[in-house]
Amino acid sequence: MPRPDDIAKVSEGGAGPAGHLSDSFGRHFHYLRLSVTDRCNFRCAYCLPAGCGKEPLSRPLSVEEIELLAGAFASLGLWKFRLTGGEPTTRPDLTEIVRRIAGAPGVRRVGLTTNGYRLAPLASELRDAGLTSLNVSLDSLDPERFERLTGFSHLDRVVAGVEAALAVGIPSVKVNVVALRGMDDRELDQFLSWTKRSPLTVRFIELMRTGDNQAFFLQHHLPAEEIRRKLEDRGFTRLARDESDGPAITYGRDDHLGSAGLIAPSSAGFCESCNRLRVSSAGALKLCLFGVEVPLRHLLASSAQRGELVRLIERSMKAKPASGLAERGHESQTRNLASIGG
Ligand code: SAM
Repeated sequence: MPRPDDIAKVSEGGAGPAGHLSDSFGRHFHYLRLSVTDRCNFRCAYCLPAGCGKEPLSRPLSVEEIELLAGAFASLGLWKFRLTGGEPTTRPDLTEIVRRIAGAPGVRRVGLTTNGYRLAPLASELRDAGLTSLNVSLDSLDPERFERLTGFSHLDRVVAGVEAALAVGIPSVKVNVVALRGMDDRELDQFLSWTKRSPLTVRFIELMRTGDNQAFFLQHHLPAEEIRRKLEDRGFTRLARDESDGPAITYGRDDHLGSAGLIAPSSAGFCESCNRLRVSSAGALKLCLFGVEVPLRHLLASSAQRGELVRLIERSMKAKPASGLAERGHESQTRNLASIGG
């Protein structure tokens, strides 16, 4: 695995010909996932089963720092940003963060990934601030199973959040379901029937192994292939790829308003289609979910540092691994996805 100090040594990668940020393997990057907090208000069994402490592990970037960061990445050709965490809606300034990123020159899409608990009252102000896509994490539509998985009995609030987002017209609404052993066909069909009547995408995501969830993973991992077969059995067929799909594969049926998707991190070729970079809530560039970190925060104190920041990001790209850090056992370095933004 490359180390942060390899970054200064190599000379490939960086900004491509048309201002595209690219790595040494010819992949272009237009998408940044930014964690805005490492705090979460749920206790998902495979992520933070004991919840997080009262205090953040690290001081999150301020609105001003986030604006400078987004401006630098946008100047390198990134046009799609997604806010994640931790739980982003625990930040009282979330709407302002969305507004500032949406206002950066070159930014075309601003998304948010949330557990949906605080979504319903925020949906219209987030849309007005420029939010274009919303992913709500919702692993079960069965109230008891939802409570076992998240530690809370708030299924109705989360569903109300999704419905509010659709009602106020946020352009893209997706429900992300981590597919786990224990999700039976009845529940799968409940999710799919939601896509029949509503224009949303329900995406089934394969559980990833992390440092903290090894035992849970062995018990609950459900290969994406099993879901794919079930989708095909139910008449879903593969849809053409959208430029922003990344590693997701989308399925549809003519009589459904919405669609279904599959994200299979352990499948062959998954990393080859990687189109994303990540920045942690404390301002470290993560080149891979399971890989190298490059601190950027020291260059976010003023706009006068923009040139230096842009050059550091470009140089860092050559440390982005081709693939497979997880396969090579590096997943245990990432204790859970809440700390870096899943
Ligand atoms: N709190 C927000 C939420 O619930 O969407 C954002 C952060 S959460 C870490 C982002 C996504 O990562 C959620 O959809 C969650 O289910 C997913 N996630 C967390 N740990 C995961 C794992 N080990 N494998 C697959 N997905 C995981």
